[in-house]
Amino acid sequence: MTISTSTTQRQADAIVVGAGFAGLYAVHALRDKMGLDVVAFDAADDVGGTWYWNRYPGARVDIESVHYSYSFDDALQQEWRWSERFCAQPEILAYLEHVAERYDLRRSIRFKTRITSLTWDDEASVWVATTDAGDTWRAPHVVSGAGNLSVPKKPDFPGIEKFAGQVLMTGNWPHHEVCFTGKRVGIIGVGSSGIQAISEIAKTADHLTVFQRTPNYATPIGNELLDPAEEADYKANYQAIREASRNHFLGVPYQDAQPSALAVSAQERRAVFDDRWNRGGFRLFIDSFADILFDKRANDTAAEYIRERIRERVKDPATAELLSPTDYPYGTKRPPLETDYYEAYNRPNVTLLDVRTNTVKAVMPKGVELSDGTLHELDVLILATGFDACTGPLLALNITGRNGLRLADHWAHGPQTYLGLMSAGFPNLFMITGPQSPSVLYNMPLAIEDHVDLSCEAIAYLRKEGLGVIEPTPEAEQAWVAHTNELAQHTLLPESKTSWYMGDNIPGKPRRVLVYLGGAPNYRAKCEATVKAGWEGFSLTAAEGALA
Ligand code: FAD
Ligand code: NAP
Repeated sequence: MTISTSTTQRQADAIVVGAGFAGLYAVHALRDKMGLDVVAFDAADDVGGTWYWNRYPGARVDIESVHYSYSFDDALQQEWRWSERFCAQPEILAYLEHVAERYDLRRSIRFKTRITSLTWDDEASVWVATTDAGDTWRAPHVVSGAGNLSVPKKPDFPGIEKFAGQVLMTGNWPHHEVCFTGKRVGIIGVGSSGIQAISEIAKTADHLTVFQRTPNYATPIGNELLDPAEEADYKANYQAIREASRNHFLGVPYQDAQPSALAVSAQERRAVFDDRWNRGGFRLFIDSFADILFDKRANDTAAEYIRERIRERVKDPATAELLSPTDYPYGTKRPPLETDYYEAYNRPNVTLLDVRTNTVKAVMPKGVELSDGTLHELDVLILATGFDACTGPLLALNITGRNGLRLADHWAHGPQTYLGLMSAGFPNLFMITGPQSPSVLYNMPLAIEDHVDLSCEAIAYLRKEGLGVIEPTPEAEQAWVAHTNELAQHTLLPESKTSWYMGDNIPGKPRRVLVYLGGAPNYRAKCEATVKAGWEGFSLTAAEGALA
């Protein structure tokens, strides 16, 4: 169905937020598989989500492309060809553009349009969405594909607006090529984005100054061109590969993890770490020893191994020391994957500054001033300072549910969801890869497909039973929040004090684990049991009124 443009108050069966991996699949599933009238919105001027916005040099996937892709249509996964093991942003964006084209999705999406509020109309049992185009849309169902990492952290550096040079954000990078030749470039942030950007920009900038607060445990990505024979092998076995992925904690078909780093000799442990380091990807983190994320002593062995490798790669011992994390366990912040990152610090045009103690005081017209009064003169300042993760994009939607309940108030002490999919008091609002689901600790396209399919199943069930409204009970929600918090306590995650997984990166954000840590297979089993038990933990009722 083509979107009508004739009135300013319009209606649909379902409103979809976003046109990234989640929004695109939601449009296809709701519209083409279920036959619903769907309208989607994205603030961007085209599809891609993360891969539309994050165009900085070096932007690349950290899960192998053959796995980080849709599985819902075998024809699609057979026909698409990935050129590298871990593809770069332009290729992933091209893939999502191909998906939009192949399934004719753009006709249901309104681009350059931001949803500014979502309000539940108790009497009509519909959501009312307003947009920055001045339109109002009404629909009984909302499927949010607003993303987990789509609201960049606001710059918190006084004076930044007076900087005479160029300010760039990795999370909202210009569409034109940025040339760093002859420029003095500064970058704040050494998370996955900063690390990827530093490795590339160091090659062309006249000088690159890295402002580092917390060093990271970056390990080699192991990228290379995808061998056609290997590709053919993947394609011949895709179904089994996807099944193995869905049965793995992280959603990848890795199978080599040994039970404990502490159960083997130092020599055996070293051999495993060397092997996983050389094979790249998340193998060191997730496919070496199963207790790395759970037992501090096991974690220490991996952390020390990484520090040792950093010392081998960075020539200046003081710089190597500064680049070596010591005060939080490995994996409690998402481990960045890199190519030649540590070697960048061996170049004469790269300077590493520690801004943990000597903090960024202000941005001056000429550059960045630290608290000791030193001024670092720059032509370009890059902010790789991260995102208001998981809850940020949902709260930015300005959601008001039943009886005027604001999501911002309901989540004042941290997110409250049932299964990470829905929140009590917010009927028929499906949050794809929402807080307290496996989401970012799982291969995201698969997590997205699972959640979109579950949302469709709920809507189909309502329609089959002649009902109109589904929402979690407050009791089920409380139990889920307690369960996810409890799971986190059995891991090392709470030990990091600067991780976005815990909400620590945004000043004032409540500290609560934002992901489900029981692993995707357990999570899926819980969802399946819930559905089988007649949507246990949910209340399913008739709609209060017909859609006017
Ligand atoms: P997004 O891709 O974030 O899309 C959300 C869209 O919703 C955006 O386009 C946004 O403009 C739109 N939107 C949000 N709010 C509104 C609103 N109010 N009105 C209108 N539009 C709105 N995950 C992995 O598993 N592996 C990886 O290798 C990986 N790499 C990543 C690299 C980067 C640089 C980043 C930032 C994230 C990465 N992620 C990775 C996580 C990534 O976000 C997900 O894998 C996936 O792309 C999320 O898709 P999505 O559709 O849920 O959300
Ligand atoms: P991030 O991991 O949150 O890193 C932000 C960086 O900015 C940190 O080094 C942080 O320091 C620093 N920072 C923030 N505010 C600062 C301040 N006021 N002063 C000094 N430093 C400050 O963000 P990200 O790198 O954008 O990555 C976010 C997530 O996106 C990743 O974890 C990953 O899930 C995804 N991602 C994936 C890839 C990939 O490889 N495929 C690439 C990019 C992003 P502190 O640590 O001290 O707070």
